[in-house]
Amino acid sequence: MDRELLIGIDLGGTNCRLALVDGRGEIGEGSRLSSREFVDAEDLVERLALECRALMEHARRQGGRVRAVGAGVPGLVDGTGTVLTAPNLGILDGLPLGAALEKRLGLPVAVLNDANAIAWGEKIWGAAIDLDSFLALTLGTGVGGGLILGGRLWVGADGCAGEVGHLNVEAHGRICGCGSRGCLEQYSSASGILRSVRDALAQGRDSTLSQINDQDLSAAAVGAAARGGDALALEVLREAGRRLGQVLAGVANLLNLDGAVICGGVASSLDLFLPALNQELFARAFDRPARRMRIFAGALGDRAGILGAAHFACHPQAAWSARSES
Ligand SMILES: [Zn+2]
Repeated sequence: MDRELLIGIDLGGTNCRLALVDGRGEIGEGSRLSSREFVDAEDLVERLALECRALMEHARRQGGRVRAVGAGVPGLVDGTGTVLTAPNLGILDGLPLGAALEKRLGLPVAVLNDANAIAWGEKIWGAAIDLDSFLALTLGTGVGGGLILGGRLWVGADGCAGEVGHLNVEAHGRICGCGSRGCLEQYSSASGILRSVRDALAQGRDSTLSQINDQDLSAAAVGAAARGGDALALEVLREAGRRLGQVLAGVANLLNLDGAVICGGVASSLDLFLPALNQELFARAFDRPARRMRIFAGALGDRAGILGAAHFACHPQAAWSARSES
């Protein structure tokens, strides 16, 4: 590894991973915590600081030095590194995480939304290096979005841009945790896909998925069943793809992007739902922006968040809004 190092933090609702990252995007020593064990915000900050210090010491022993720390978090983050709201990790609400870690570590700390970190990782070291404008969609517990415009991360006037998971696809649809209903993430996230499966099974639909214990039911299991020819599994994945196509048609018309990068566990089933997605996209969007928008899976898998956060730590000017230019 290079001697000049960064620390990338991927703080999720369930797990928190930290790792040393070098200037070429190589991941080195790292550690993992359970996010559910954090007692409160103070405890979270202390334990992250402890892990960071251990990684800084590890880097020092290898003759290296940590320059900065970047953290991707599951919530909306303002331009100062304060978490505005984090529905899946409530102790982060209102926490000035960047300032708190900087004070303890004596290093620059950048905090950004986790989907933005993934988008930035794919832009710098992943599948979207050549794209000037794209939307990264992370299909996991929810649907996260990170928007790259002009080669930079568009965060909007308040740091809240890119929330594609909460665009509406069904006016009177499923109730969403954001307070609205019929949001994309209620249908196309891993959780949304499982809900569709459970609803269909409860209605007596025949499927090999009915033989799986409910707690073992996963988006990966749905993908495997679809590949094995299970009609319900394939139908549910196509429905998720159709909803994604509905939203991406609007995105294509609004922004005329170069591409859309599908990330997260569900991306491994992209080939199964891409035809349904494209059918919807081309039926709804103008032809030129629909043809322009290349749709493909991310290349970095679950490393994208750590890599993106780490790189962003030494390039915070990559995040922009019209306000940051003035
Ligand atoms: Zn919503």
